[in-house]
Amino acid sequence: MSSTPSHAALDAVRARLDAAARAAVRPLPPRLLAVGKLHPASAIAALADAGQRAFGENYVQEAAGKIEALAGRGLEWHLIGHLQSNKARQAAAVFDWVQTVDRMKLVEALAAHRPPARGALNVLLQVNIDDESSKHGCTPSEVPALAAAVRAAPSLRLRGLMAIPAPHAEPARRRDAFARMRRLFDTLAGQDPAIDTLSMGMSEDLELAVAEGATMVRVGSALFGARPAR
Ligand SMILES: *Cc1c(COP(=O)(O)O)cnc(C)c1O
Repeated sequence: MSSTPSHAALDAVRARLDAAARAAVRPLPPRLLAVGKLHPASAIAALADAGQRAFGENYVQEAAGKIEALAGRGLEWHLIGHLQSNKARQAAAVFDWVQTVDRMKLVEALAAHRPPARGALNVLLQVNIDDESSKHGCTPSEVPALAAAVRAAPSLRLRGLMAIPAPHAEPARRRDAFARMRRLFDTLAGQDPAIDTLSMGMSEDLELAVAEGATMVRVGSALFGARPAR
């Protein structure tokens, strides 16, 4: 059923993911996270009506409003924006996943504030894979210690890694960053069967990310159109 603009956009992105998985000779396409930052709850509701279940948000306050507005629809909410420690309590309460854990203080704050009734909070470690001074994320060498800290917290569940590589114009350089993430991920996953998620790739480069082993892609503009200004 492709009767609405949301259905059509979702069908088009799913077709890209299926084609990318086939090209990479992978049995299944990656999970699709729909990134709704700056779009209203009504736009998210339309995509949910079209069958999308997992949604990513960048700003805790904005997300909290949408999560409340769309409660009861069985949606899964991922924080994919930088998390300040003073927002960790609210983030731990409202999200199902936090993909941007990059420092010990945040591990401790999320672990302490996850409400027991919500079950364990799914966590990805964000890696600054291109070592950009402007970007958040831990270094590759910090991954083992952070992973150990998350695993030691009963209120957290380590699921894998996330990255936002530098937006190099040349696809080969982006692909190289995705490949380095894949190697880090394989090392981590080899130690822990619960680790199943490598979140990388966006509207412009999801094919490259899937070719290098992304298990989840984060797609905004290809699903929702251009973002309104903040
Ligand atoms: C906005 C955003 C996306 C989606 O980007 P598009 O180019 O619109 O697909 C993915 N990941 C993160 C971390 C983002 O902030």
